[in-house]
Amino acid sequence: MLRTLPDDDVRAILWRYADRYDLQMLVQSARGVARGPVARLVAAGGRNSHEWTPEKDELLKACDEAGLSAVGLDVEHGGFIEGPKNLALAIVAFELAWVDAGAATSNLANFLALGPIHERGTEQQRAFYMSAAAPVPGGEREPWRGAFALTEPIPYVGVETGLLGGKARVAVWEEGQEPILQIDKRGRFITGMGFADFVSAAVDSADERIKGSCMVILEKTDPGIFDRGVPARKLVHQLSSTRDPVFSLRVPASRIVGGYTVINGVIIPNFSHGEVIEAVFRRTRVTVGLMTAAKLLSAIEPVIRYHRGRFRGGEGIVPGSPRYEFGLQQKEDVLHRLVDIWATGEAAAALGFEAARVFDELDPIERQKDAFFAERGIDRGRAQMKALAKISKDALEYLAQSHRRPDQRNTERYDALAADPMVRFVLLDAVANVICPAVKLWNTGHGANVMREAVSLVGGYGITEDCPGFLGYKWMDSQLEATYEGPEAVQRRQLSITMTNELFLAQFGHWTTEMRQVASEHPGTGACTLATAMQLWLWTLVTFPLADALAWLLATRQQVLDVLNLMTRGWENPVVAEQLPTLAPFLMDLCHVQTARAAGEVGRISAELIFGYRRQPAPDGHGLSACDPADGFKSSEDVITGIAATAHIDGHVIEADGSHPVKAGPCAGTEGLEPFLRMRTKLDSCLAGARLAKDRAAEGLMRVMIPEALGYPL
Ligand SMILES: Cc1cc2nc3c(=O)[nH]c(=O)nc-3n(C[C@H](O)[C@H](O)[C@H](O)COP(=O)(O)OP(=O)(O)OC[C@H]3O[C@@H](n4cnc5c(N)ncnc54)[C@H](O)[C@@H]3O)c2cc1C
Repeated sequence: MLRTLPDDDVRAILWRYADRYDLQMLVQSARGVARGPVARLVAAGGRNSHEWTPEKDELLKACDEAGLSAVGLDVEHGGFIEGPKNLALAIVAFELAWVDAGAATSNLANFLALGPIHERGTEQQRAFYMSAAAPVPGGEREPWRGAFALTEPIPYVGVETGLLGGKARVAVWEEGQEPILQIDKRGRFITGMGFADFVSAAVDSADERIKGSCMVILEKTDPGIFDRGVPARKLVHQLSSTRDPVFSLRVPASRIVGGYTVINGVIIPNFSHGEVIEAVFRRTRVTVGLMTAAKLLSAIEPVIRYHRGRFRGGEGIVPGSPRYEFGLQQKEDVLHRLVDIWATGEAAAALGFEAARVFDELDPIERQKDAFFAERGIDRGRAQMKALAKISKDALEYLAQSHRRPDQRNTERYDALAADPMVRFVLLDAVANVICPAVKLWNTGHGANVMREAVSLVGGYGITEDCPGFLGYKWMDSQLEATYEGPEAVQRRQLSITMTNELFLAQFGHWTTEMRQVASEHPGTGACTLATAMQLWLWTLVTFPLADALAWLLATRQQVLDVLNLMTRGWENPVVAEQLPTLAPFLMDLCHVQTARAAGEVGRISAELIFGYRRQPAPDGHGLSACDPADGFKSSEDVITGIAATAHIDGHVIEADGSHPVKAGPCAGTEGLEPFLRMRTKLDSCLAGARLAKDRAAEGLMRVMIPEALGYPL
């Protein structure tokens, strides 16, 4: 039976940074800020103001001192983490959001502003702005802070539109000199705007001497208007600054992110605003998804404590009595609901951290890909797409070979494909294109709904500022995470395109087989249910609504894989090894609970799509064929007693004179859908054991030891 909540050693193995000492230290630094100054400010009512207060500003300094403001910077620019930093940023987001996601956003908004420069900036832009953003030990110089300005006042951009109100024009362009641009942009809901020193802003050309759109870097001392605007009267994330700024500034053309070329007297930005933003958001959305995951997991301990202590102090409720010891935990319902929240949190964190790791692996390979194309003089656009199509064929061949027995492979060809970084790139890129919107969509959208459930488990207390763990705030905050950097519909749209990529589908097919293999060794994980649900998803595959179903599957698959990793690697760490005998079965039960829920969602969504688009039969014209003639039942009555009466009650019978019972229509036929019905029935029967797993997990909640008090202020 579960003895304690999973500790840091367990988490490091689950989320695969057990061999990264730097990241383990980062967990502690971020946690110190979150559960120290951030928690104290929330408890003191620091969220009750839209203004950027000195107290909120202190949090930025606390992040500087703890190294959190430098996590996303390369070492040569003042950072301290070697190599890709997606997992590092994910850890910081997770730890800060465990207490307050506004504080997490405040820290991360700086990296969002630097993102365009990091991903697409010129060498000079990178060197200058990254170094300027690095805190200097001893505080001799204030680090620069940035804001990212895409969104504009309605009617123009939210996050995905091609229409931009912000404009760039040529102000001055003297012969042989750098052009000076006039930038006019109004922003809406721009984070970090209360204190930003620079802004990465999306603008479109309003001048025939500039082609298309771009992102430009604006500085607060540029000539013209740099008006920070009014604060947004937010109900959420109040520890970050959000304002509606107005800019009308003159800047040199060298501020165009990624540079430009001049052809026939026209400035051609090397990257459109869309290209820059795509490269940035696909990474930063992952950290947003992890914020909501952190909140879900952070709710477990306060809810257990509340339930256990619920009746203490009541007359006759003495220590040792079930009511005293278990309180509301005596009720199966609250236990089951908390199991669902915990399972969702595990799946969300598993998916988010996996996405961060995928991007860590992808980053250097993407650079190799850029070098590969540059060496061959293959430009972006069509030529590159053609080259990638050829590499994709190789990748499909590699996948097919890798799933054959070694003695059935063409070893020479297989080894060559396996060592080809371009093959690795296209495979990983196809996964990254799916997993990023899946994290953003599922973790935040579904996570926000589940967060409401966490709040409801604390009753009236849940919707007060005094609620332990700040659960009410966290519920509201999660709605922002579901909204900014692209609301759910935007993620669904993106998923519905990327999930049909043949490279993704080929890998998904193999993952299904992998889950069957897992099930044969660890049936308690519910992996078999998941495999059947994955098969059903693949069979149904259409568009939009199945994006949600896919996200459920991906999250649950990753949860299973993480627990398997813990069961394999946990023995290497004596502290974890000691916990494994009780912890592993519990985490497996959570997987089983989650696989059942994922299977249910996939079944429901698929059935709704398959049947929902069939014409509803009515006992006239077209629908008549779905009715049975009344006398047709006479012969069957000898075999199945009562069939004729039942058919009349169901209403899909037509009498000899053409009359029929009063009802909207006969039941729909299922011809042609037998494979689907077989799979759906199988999926339902695959749920065997899922509720038993839930009961066991619920009992674990009753027995698990928790600290006397929460580790941060109330
Ligand atoms: C606190 C806060 C901080 C923010 N920080 C920043 C920032 O730093 N920088 C920045 O640039 N922006 C920022 N934003 C803006 C944020 O990214 C946008 O609000 C968000 O992307 C949604 O855009 P919108 O508000 O225009 O909503 P809308 O686009 O109007 O969406 C309204 C509804 O319509 C749906 N919808 C929209 N488009 C489609 C579609 N094509 N198909 C189907 N349904 C659709 C949406 O899912 C949503 O449910 C911030 C917003 C807030 C609230």
